[in-house]
Amino acid sequence: MAKKTSCTAEKARLEALDKQYLWHPFTQMKDYERLTPLIIERGKGSYLYDIEGNRYLDGVSSLWVTIHGHRKKQLDTAMIQQVKKIAHSTLLGLSNVPAIKLAQKLVAITPRGLTRVFYSDNGSTAVEVALKIAFQFWQQQTSRAARRKKTFVTLQNAYHGDTLGAVSVGGIDLFHRIYRPLLFKTYKATAPYCYRCPLHLQHPSCSLACLDSLEQILKQHHAEIAAFIMEPMVQGAAGMIVFPRGFAKGARELCARYGVLFIADEVAVGFGRTGKLFACEHENLRPDLLALAKGITGGTLPLAATLATDAIYDAFWGEVEEGKTFYHGHTYTGNPIACAVALANLAVFDKERVLDALQPKMKLLKKKLQRFYSLRHVGDVRQCGFMVGIELVNDRDSKKPYPVRQKIGQRVILEARHRGVVIRPLGDVIVLMPPLSISPQELETLVDVVYDAIRSVTEK
Ligand SMILES: *Cc1c(COP(=O)(O)O)cnc(C)c1O
Repeated sequence: MAKKTSCTAEKARLEALDKQYLWHPFTQMKDYERLTPLIIERGKGSYLYDIEGNRYLDGVSSLWVTIHGHRKKQLDTAMIQQVKKIAHSTLLGLSNVPAIKLAQKLVAITPRGLTRVFYSDNGSTAVEVALKIAFQFWQQQTSRAARRKKTFVTLQNAYHGDTLGAVSVGGIDLFHRIYRPLLFKTYKATAPYCYRCPLHLQHPSCSLACLDSLEQILKQHHAEIAAFIMEPMVQGAAGMIVFPRGFAKGARELCARYGVLFIADEVAVGFGRTGKLFACEHENLRPDLLALAKGITGGTLPLAATLATDAIYDAFWGEVEEGKTFYHGHTYTGNPIACAVALANLAVFDKERVLDALQPKMKLLKKKLQRFYSLRHVGDVRQCGFMVGIELVNDRDSKKPYPVRQKIGQRVILEARHRGVVIRPLGDVIVLMPPLSISPQELETLVDVVYDAIRSVTEK
């Protein structure tokens, strides 16, 4: 009894301190302070446990990072073993063992042509690095015409991170509009969004007409364009918008035709999320630059990598007085513990044939998702592998969204939480991104709970 009381007291104390001291990301704190916070203490497999010991299915892989579940033994062991050697040494002018081995592995498993690995700590910096390398690449060409290539093309609704360069290539007004005076100019090409086609066409009879916008931009402005950036196959934060087949491939080919570098942002879609190790593999894309982060350490430590081709790397090669050095680097670049655990993460992919094991679960998920169309307020259900977006609408016939103040997505996830599932929406899109290691039974529970949560909130 005494233990229970002290536990309750500690819970109340932490809740109060959380509200007093923390400023949560992507969170309106006024809303947050009205709620009882969910304070996580530990995790195991597909589950999170709060400070009272309540168990929740981790339906979004702790924001899209946990791949093999929490407390995966091989990953924990790799971390501990590396800590016993050294926690950190700088990569500025020195090297370290795990950073070297991981770079070799990443080059081996990513699309052909990518031969160099530049480390940083998160998805935004991986994108910043790609943008700066692309910009500097053209500045270091001998031809004057090439040096005029200074701007970027991005897709509508794009999300590439929260630092200012990444925001400049972003296209989500809700997040990005306020910073506009601080951003560099970009061209925004039409992005496919088949449920709400910006051209009011139907796939596949549209023949990917949405690609025309990118083609027009490149045709008219290629002389001033350094690079185009996109997420291959799925725009994640935009609302899990799955691209029609051929769009990514078409975009890549246009970039090649017009002499514009192609940057693939696989921060969200990489490391098995879409059913292949990298989303580029679906359409055999070979990017000039590739940004990786989120899943790279299996959800344990912050790490990111930007990969580049020989052609890009060569443009930076020279005597120091030529001024071609890439003057960019983060303090914890190539952190040995993070690299060691990333290697362990990739070893598990091989050893446990994670992608093979995933295929039947993707099918099961697909089958279970069909049922959602029986809910009156489900407008669209999108899936690519283990990335799912369920778009809720106020009126299904007109596809009219809910008013923002109804916070319908937020209400669904709180309802799911009461039922033992942790998820996080993107506006009114309910996102499912379970760990790749989730068992078929857990997957069924996850989907059933989310179904019930949506029904209880939208049909009562
Ligand atoms: C999350 C994300 C980023 C930013 O990564 P952070 O680690 O949050 O900085 C960039 N691009 C895409 C596609 C993402 O999903």
